[in-house]
Amino acid sequence: MDFDLTDEQELIRATAREFTDNEVVERSRENARNHRFDLELVAKIAAQGYLGAIIPAQYGGAGLDYVSYGLIVEEIGRGDSAIRTVISVQTSLVCSAILKWGTEEQKLHYLPKLCSGEWLGCFGLTEPESGSDAASLRTRATRTDSGWVLNGSKMWISMGNHARLALIFAQTDPTQGHRGLACFLVDTDQPGFQPQEIEHKMGLHASDTASIALEDVEVSDSEMLGEIGEGFKVAMSALDSGRYSVAAGCVGICQGCVDESVRYAQEREQFGRPIASFQLVQAMIADMAVKTDASRMLVWRAGFLKDRGRPNTLETSIAKLHATEAALECANAAIQVHGGAGYVDDHPVERYFRDARVTTLYEGTSQIQKLIIGRAKTGINAFVPG
Ligand SMILES: Cc1cc2nc3c(=O)[nH]c(=O)nc-3n(C[C@H](O)[C@H](O)[C@H](O)COP(=O)(O)OP(=O)(O)OC[C@H]3O[C@@H](n4cnc5c(N)ncnc54)[C@H](O)[C@@H]3O)c2cc1C
Repeated sequence: MDFDLTDEQELIRATAREFTDNEVVERSRENARNHRFDLELVAKIAAQGYLGAIIPAQYGGAGLDYVSYGLIVEEIGRGDSAIRTVISVQTSLVCSAILKWGTEEQKLHYLPKLCSGEWLGCFGLTEPESGSDAASLRTRATRTDSGWVLNGSKMWISMGNHARLALIFAQTDPTQGHRGLACFLVDTDQPGFQPQEIEHKMGLHASDTASIALEDVEVSDSEMLGEIGEGFKVAMSALDSGRYSVAAGCVGICQGCVDESVRYAQEREQFGRPIASFQLVQAMIADMAVKTDASRMLVWRAGFLKDRGRPNTLETSIAKLHATEAALECANAAIQVHGGAGYVDDHPVERYFRDARVTTLYEGTSQIQKLIIGRAKTGINAFVPG
């Protein structure tokens, strides 16, 4: 077993670390304070090749392996989860789905625009009445002479206000259940596509989250991704990549918590000495360090399996469950190490705490990850509808 990264992976990590420190960290507090979706930063991320890291060069991507992608996402996640969400959605949920399920024509049409950042994409699965039970979604795709027309609503869609392309999951035949689902590549530049900003979020203030009304949105046959009945598989395979990305971003939050806590504990003095010299403070830092390392190893294992084309849904769920819960625990502990100073945004730990909270919810809640893990271990599917 080899835990060493290759020279190329080390370089990719060092470059992403430098980029994060120089470009992401300095903007993160102001963007969060101003609830600003930073398109200038998105363009810089795209110029780095981070929006299409795992997409082959022939489609405009960087052609990197999953482990390298995870290293990039970890670094960006340490800097700012809001901008990390852009990478996770664009690269994993949108691009990877098109790469896996798209026709050659679709890949050549969409991927270069998405990898370059010319277009942003969003992933429209969740609805007001359908979250964890994604197969019960109600958005309706109705056949027309020239293709399909979509009607329904989507909820909590990251980048829904800025996306030029939306992957919209819809039901073609309600009598078929999940076998009737299909995924459509929707041009958002038409009147029936109506996104609306979701305000007053707990965290991810610098991210764009939308509810979307779909009123007679037209799509042609050539804009279906996969076949009728494959929509659920398209969604689940995209989430396999998305969960990996969220997990890697959470390793970044964990590492940021360790770094910030060590720095603060060495500087802050109480009782005439640095608080880092108190065993109870060291214990909090040690707990964070263990959670960080364990999460990173689980992410690397999932990436290792993905790079070899081996089954990895179980290992990805384990990494997502562990890393997201660890990020929350580390952020909570990091605020404790900072005392009152951790309760305001002078230090990033306050934002880490608010931004980490959503990670155990989106791309499958922690409970859903446990059901996936439980199903793999017991052979019994607990997802059966009531
Ligand atoms: C900021 C943000 C960004 C998001 N971005 C996107 C996006 O880009 N695209 C997209 O499609 N969605 C997105 N989502 C939606 C997200 O994926 C859903 O919120 C998530 O899947 C949970 O669905 P729900 O909110 O409807 O909760 P529910 O499914 O209603 O779950 C509520 C609670 O019940 C539990 N629960 C549900 N079913 C079971 C079960 N069978 N067993 C045990 N417990 C269960 C859940 O774990 C949870 O604790 C985003 C959400 C947020 C908050």
